Amino acid sequence: MRPSLVLTSKLVNCVSKARRPHYHYFPNLHSALSNLRTLFTMPTQHFDALVLGSGQSGTPLASHLKSLGQSTCLVERAHIAGCCVNEGCTPTKTMVASGRVAYLARRAGEYGIHSGNGEVRVDMKRVRERKRDIVTSFRGGSEKRLEGAGVRVIMGEARFTSEKEVLVTSNSGDGKEQIVSADSIYINVGCRPSRPQLPGLEDVEQERVLDSTSIQELGDVPEHLVVIGGGFIGLEFGQLFRRLGAKVTVVHRGPRLGGREEDPELVDCLADILREDGVEILFNVSGTKLEKTSDEKLPIRIAVETGTKGALDIHASHILLATGRVPNTDTLGLDKAGIKTTPSGHIVASPTLETNVPGVFVLGDVKGGPAFTHVSYDDFRIVRDNLTLNSSKTEGAVKTTEQRAPFIPSVVYTDPQFAHIGPKLGALPKGKKYITYSMPGSWIARGLETDETRGMLKVVIDSDTDKIVSFSAISVEGGELMAVVQMAMVGGLKWQVLRDAVWAHPSWSESLNNLWGGERKEITVS
Ligand SMILES: Cc1cc2nc3c(=O)[nH]c(=O)nc-3n(C[C@H](O)[C@H](O)[C@H](O)COP(=O)(O)OP(=O)(O)OC[C@H]3O[C@@H](n4cnc5c(N)ncnc54)[C@H](O)[C@@H]3O)c2cc1C
Repeated sequence: MRPSLVLTSKLVNCVSKARRPHYHYFPNLHSALSNLRTLFTMPTQHFDALVLGSGQSGTPLASHLKSLGQSTCLVERAHIAGCCVNEGCTPTKTMVASGRVAYLARRAGEYGIHSGNGEVRVDMKRVRERKRDIVTSFRGGSEKRLEGAGVRVIMGEARFTSEKEVLVTSNSGDGKEQIVSADSIYINVGCRPSRPQLPGLEDVEQERVLDSTSIQELGDVPEHLVVIGGGFIGLEFGQLFRRLGAKVTVVHRGPRLGGREEDPELVDCLADILREDGVEILFNVSGTKLEKTSDEKLPIRIAVETGTKGALDIHASHILLATGRVPNTDTLGLDKAGIKTTPSGHIVASPTLETNVPGVFVLGDVKGGPAFTHVSYDDFRIVRDNLTLNSSKTEGAVKTTEQRAPFIPSVVYTDPQFAHIGPKLGALPKGKKYITYSMPGSWIARGLETDETRGMLKVVIDSDTDKIVSFSAISVEGGELMAVVQMAMVGGLKWQVLRDAVWAHPSWSESLNNLWGGERKEITVS
């Protein structure tokens, strides 16, 4: 076991028995003076455990720590349950469901179904209301669970003042400040949309400049939405708003969708589907400049240089900035605690999710790496299980982020979904030989029956071991199909087991009988 983990565990155990005053810890003179100043001027509370941010790991962790008998405080600056519930997975997938209904309603005649005069009308306010209702209900559930567990929740912004102490500024508008200290601190403060530096961006009407959060609050469908960035958040919104009735143009810096490691065959397949749905995609875009115009409906002129079409002027009603996310560490005062960050501002984490400061852990998106709810939740499980392991002194393996690394799945919730598990093609070890099998969605009986054949499946096999290295599905229910293959990978099964299994007919998974009869290639990654 790593020494620092043992130390942390000892700290947690010993402190839960004997609570110490908040000023017990003076790492240096500056900190000592700061502590003395705040001690006499501000209300101060000490806890065994302090969780910063109520993301997908912080929220369950706070309840768990309380259940271990530790006095636990959670500080949240915006709303309980973090990005996933409030502005990420939950609201977007709720809206994507509305988009899919609009898509199917337009295609209803193809299935022999006719209603009214066949026109599809989108009530954006109802789409938004449905989204808000589901978010409120999910958030309410998290709030109740924290309350039920007896966690002390403080709504405010936290900033470190020393290694084990934070200043919390209330977010209720009264500017009230208090000091909270703890023996163990768990940072789960997440990320936020980045704002690119684009010439003219500040000159256009700011209500028309959207990010992944504000776009969900639109009460009307935009006339022409220009999505800056062809990453997966931009694509989900791009297809969604096209389906809701907007003209949509995606401008992307790279030569194809996604990042450099993506398999060109897969992302080109996805791009074709989006184009078929009416989303315009421009690649190799550079020199993007914005200008305000007097056009009432399309008041943003976006000048771009494109790889294939040369210089273009696009006239937009709204733009969506989808150029990535930045960690919420810039206002966290990490320097006061001596917590190390990467050049991008992410907090450096050990495989057991400890920072360089003993007793201070980091969980979720803010540590960098794959930014998904399931990863953040698994961070909670790693910390939880290691704490239990240490305090119960039972034999057992320490859980680490390295153990799960080969098996982190992702799903882009376009329709069809783009699901993937295993290393991306460009991340495979160079020089090693692999076998790939791929087949089009039009080979899947279920797809033909439901008239949903767009997409493809692709698998990469290690030719030395016959084990599955990665699997991708661009398919309706691609995420569920991927999960079947994920099980085989987690269990270390050879690909022949999938080929020979008896899958129910006609399920999407039945395609795993046929994939191996598809196109076979031997590849070596260069
Ligand atoms: C549009 C969109 C769609 C997404 N879709 C998916 C999806 O389909 N599937 C998926 O797996 N992931 C998706 N994600 C990513 C997912 O939402 C995150 O990976 C997930 O929420 C994990 O976040 P977290 O636990 O790191 O923290 P977060 O959920 O980001 O929570 C961090 C919390 O900390 C609070 N905070 C920040 N700074 C402070 C401070 N100084 N003091 C106090 N509190 C603070 C924030 O207010 C926030 O509530 C999506 C993200 C976006 C933006």
